Amino acid sequence: MIETALENIPFEINDSQFLLSLKLPEGSSEAEEAVQLLKEACSIARPKAVYIEAYIESRTEDAVVIDGQTFNSRLLSINTKSTHRLFPYIATCGIEIEQWAGSITDPLKAYFSDMIMQLALKSAVNGLVKHLTEKRLRGKLSCMNPGALKDWPISEQKKLFSLFTNTVGVKLTDSFLMIPVKSSSGIYFTSDKKFENCELCPRENCPSRRAAYRPDC
Ligand code: SF4
Repeated sequence: MIETALENIPFEINDSQFLLSLKLPEGSSEAEEAVQLLKEACSIARPKAVYIEAYIESRTEDAVVIDGQTFNSRLLSINTKSTHRLFPYIATCGIEIEQWAGSITDPLKAYFSDMIMQLALKSAVNGLVKHLTEKRLRGKLSCMNPGALKDWPISEQKKLFSLFTNTVGVKLTDSFLMIPVKSSSGIYFTSDKKFENCELCPRENCPSRRAAYRPDC
């Protein structure tokens, strides 16, 4: 397996995008405070990602084996049936920005810094997707994440993390949560039809929903 770390992903958020995420009107005193904080954060944040180019060793109806690890997910097995190459990944806002945010005590600034970390994670994921897209893979790039759906329990994070020698600073707790919290892990793969966890997730009013709920799809 080839492991590739992307440790220089740019974090470039413009002021208007940031204020829009916070739903703050430009010119307000809160907006000025938020933009000031963003400037500080941009000089500190180092979003990162790491991925592995891996191959499915074997498959059953409800599991796939990668590098000796059996990942128990019926959906993962179904969704990857037309491919053998997978890209397990970890992406993160980075420990630098998390440590910076941890020193903020003012509640409003803490709220702004939480959004900044979220945007830093988004930059890391976008940087990874851009990198994978440049490989000119055949088919649509899709992703599955342990814990996102009942079908693939969060406890499988442990197996996922065991595939990596470099986790770009992300640690897994005993309850399988990632530190920094604004991190993401999973497996990218290509398929004829794009798959989104959201299509099978019944959570209402999720601000991050990327596809409509279609339980019968
Ligand atoms: S709807 Fe929200 S919680 Fe559910 S999978 Fe999509 S992003 Fe995650």
